[in-house]
Amino acid sequence: MNEYGVAEVDEEKCIACGQCAKVCPQNVIKIHECANYIVVKCSNKEKGAVARKQCEVSCIGCGICEKTCTAGAIHVEDNCAVIQEDICLSCGMCSVKCPRHVIHDLRGVFTAVR
Ligand code: SF4
Ligand code: SF4
Repeated sequence: MNEYGVAEVDEEKCIACGQCAKVCPQNVIKIHECANYIVVKCSNKEKGAVARKQCEVSCIGCGICEKTCTAGAIHVEDNCAVIQEDICLSCGMCSVKCPRHVIHDLRGVFTAVR
């Protein structure tokens, strides 16, 4: 658990076995389809006002990332942004624009590595 009380995967140690995704009762852990450096680190499906109250760094479904992406690779589904990894260019523009700092660049180029 990180300082926000949110479960966070140590990318260096994870072997993608998927056990955490299977046991999570809230079904919020997803295994990535491919190795994409740009990651939405939120699965909260509540509407914006509720999501804000629940977590300091939750996606609020504002759609700014969706409007920013020229590849059409990120969409808000059920109030939470989802990246279609097979067409994402890893340009990082969505992570730069996200007002909630939900979208991380695992390379540490556009956001700090956490
Ligand atoms: S810009 Fe950030 S808060 Fe807004 S929908 Fe995208 S990921 Fe969520
Ligand atoms: S990294 Fe670039 S291409 Fe990928 S979802 Fe974000 S804005 Fe779209």
